[in-house]
Amino acid sequence: MTVSEILRKDLAGADMLTVEELRFLMNCTDQADLDAIYKKAYEVKARNVDTVAYYRGLIEFSNRCIKNCKYCGIRRENDKTERFDMKRDDIIRMAQWAYDHEYGSITLQSGERTDDAFVDYVVELIRDIKRIGDGSLGITMCVGEQSEEAYRRMVDAGASRYLLRIETTNRNLYETIHPKDAMHSFDTRIACLKALRRVGFQVGTGVMIGLPGQTEEDLVNDILFYRDMDIDMIGMGPYVVHHDTPLGQQALAMGIDSEEGKLRRIQLGLKMIALTRLFLKDVNIAATTALQALDPLGREKGLAAGANILMPIITIPEHRAKYLLYDNKPCVDDNADKCKDCLTRRVMSIGDRVGWKQNGDSRHFGKR
Ligand code: SAM
Ligand code: SF4
Repeated sequence: MTVSEILRKDLAGADMLTVEELRFLMNCTDQADLDAIYKKAYEVKARNVDTVAYYRGLIEFSNRCIKNCKYCGIRRENDKTERFDMKRDDIIRMAQWAYDHEYGSITLQSGERTDDAFVDYVVELIRDIKRIGDGSLGITMCVGEQSEEAYRRMVDAGASRYLLRIETTNRNLYETIHPKDAMHSFDTRIACLKALRRVGFQVGTGVMIGLPGQTEEDLVNDILFYRDMDIDMIGMGPYVVHHDTPLGQQALAMGIDSEEGKLRRIQLGLKMIALTRLFLKDVNIAATTALQALDPLGREKGLAAGANILMPIITIPEHRAKYLLYDNKPCVDDNADKCKDCLTRRVMSIGDRVGWKQNGDSRHFGKR
């Protein structure tokens, strides 16, 4: 088996990449082979979802969180984080800005809270945002593990997509990067993904790539999980160290943040995008901000390797630096206008165009 033999496959219709081929490609590190994989993934993207990048304006509306994930800068026990809740009017104003600037959709993201007041607040917020303009602004939710009833209320209010990462499908690794308690259960995460599907959301998930202890075999299993769970959208990116977290401290002690370590995670991140595109073909795949945290050209490289979704941050400048999941978060000193122009130049630089005003629903979901 060679890379060029595998890439000669048409990958149309039932002509799929086999699991053995996927495993073989995941272990490639030769730059010429990787470039060939990215090129093929771009062709498969063009054929299956077009060379259009869809924007989901990201509003990070609160960094309060009841959880304590060991990798995340806004975890409950990080008392160095200054907590904020964006004012309701500011959230609506940013959603209006997205609509006025022809974004097809927004993503509402925050730390996790499950109290009734939070769920009521979010549901009302979705309703108000759906009243903007002609009501066409798509809403993706990313507010963690909630009850099925809460998810249903969000769909009824007008949200159509939900992003809940599995983080890693290796249960042991999941348990290592989360506290061992009922609040951080792998089984609950899976149950939530199933509940999201039942209530009618387009379901998005994803993993962190290059976690300490994670292997190439784990990453292959992550892609198989996307297939088996019939996932519509994938939001995955490299793990990025936050120095004030338990996992960040451990990763720094292991030397994971050396230049070599960063290059490996960028390479793995791009390879995951490309192989997910080759294997699943018609799903939406995001080129995430975390890619850019490790490589200034990370997001355009992600598009060139098969991604078709971008999530420009439109959070008001006042709060950007406080929503710090990891070190070196890009765009913290920018505003929404600057991010829009900068990203649009990046999209055009690789020959894609922006899907202005278009919702960019997952074609995979459309076929179900
Ligand atoms: N609280 C919600 C949740 O966990 O689903 C939504 C917000 S959470 C900040 C969104 C995602 O940020 C997580 O799913 C996780 O993968 C990612 N994240 C957190 N810390 C990270 C880190 N150090 N490196 C890369 N991604 C990280
Ligand atoms: Fe909270 Fe999400 Fe961060 Fe976990 S990843 S600590 S749930 S914001």
